Amino acid sequence: MIFKKQPHLFILKGCGIFYFLIFFLAGCSQGLSVKETRILMDTFCEISCYSPDRDKAVRAVGEAFKEMQRIEKVFSKFDENSEVSKINKIAGLENIKVSGEAFRLTERSIYYSRISDGAFDVTVAPLMEIWGFVRKHKSMPDKDDIENALKSVGYKNIELDSKKLSIRFLNKDTKIDFGGIAKGYAVDRAKDVLVSNGIKNGLVNLGGNIFALGNAPGKKNWKIGVQDPRKKGKLLYSFELTDRAISTSGNYERFFEIGGKRYSHIINPLTGEPCQGIISVTVALDSAEGADALSTAIFVMGEKKRPYFGKIYQRHKDSDT
Ligand code: ADP
Ligand code: MG
Repeated sequence: MIFKKQPHLFILKGCGIFYFLIFFLAGCSQGLSVKETRILMDTFCEISCYSPDRDKAVRAVGEAFKEMQRIEKVFSKFDENSEVSKINKIAGLENIKVSGEAFRLTERSIYYSRISDGAFDVTVAPLMEIWGFVRKHKSMPDKDDIENALKSVGYKNIELDSKKLSIRFLNKDTKIDFGGIAKGYAVDRAKDVLVSNGIKNGLVNLGGNIFALGNAPGKKNWKIGVQDPRKKGKLLYSFELTDRAISTSGNYERFFEIGGKRYSHIINPLTGEPCQGIISVTVALDSAEGADALSTAIFVMGEKKRPYFGKIYQRHKDSDT
């Protein structure tokens, strides 16, 4: 995995009910050939691109959406016919041969787990099931259930055979959940489709996982602002991006409440509990996949581990060689 530049990081601490919005600053909407929004992976997906050839742009956007829909089918945990669902049914019992794509995303997910010391963990699925149940029935989980689930959680439970392209879970109850990385991955692939269709400038935004390709019309780059969830209209931070991605993980959009207390949909894989204390984390990186995984990881790690973030980057650099 190669990240050419140091990641930018923005962390917002606090709690309470806020709204959060990422928006594109002035200039971006001018001269766009095509802009289309669809619902994908349970969120909004907007693809904008501009090119002197409008037909080419229309074709590129259509194909980019098609690619993302294909990826959703492979990695959706809600579709029982998806490849992920099949892996989750079989890999705890025996080796399962998987597609190169599923194998490589699993491999890279393990990489993000390693560099975040398990804060990002693709095997968080059994805990997601428990907290999903809690969310539905509005009653707190049993401590024993969490203790039990924790036994099957841990990226070290995944055994990969790169020659056979097979996956095996060392614990029969282990399951994988690509919710913290698949959106970023899909954004990168959509951007690749735009590029292979000859598009040089555009934006792909899937629920706050954004790739900024080239530049905005008449500008040197894409300027993407992160709005203060506490003060409407006030910018907290802005990123100037060219051929770079940003991703935000937060508890302002996806969360649930029990007894007036807010619980995040991001779970600490080491304690089994939903994360608290941070409203949002925004990471800018070379790939949307990396930004997605690391924004989730840093949301788990919290601000106290700030010195660690340099370490994450260092390890990225180490892996380049
Ligand atoms: P969003 O889904 O809002 O884009 P994230 O990218 O941070 O937010 O991903 C949250 C999703 O990632 C959860 O819905 C779940 O599927 C998965 N997840 C939750 N906790 C973790 C974790 N510690 N490591 C990896 N994936 C996680
Ligand atoms: Mg994420």
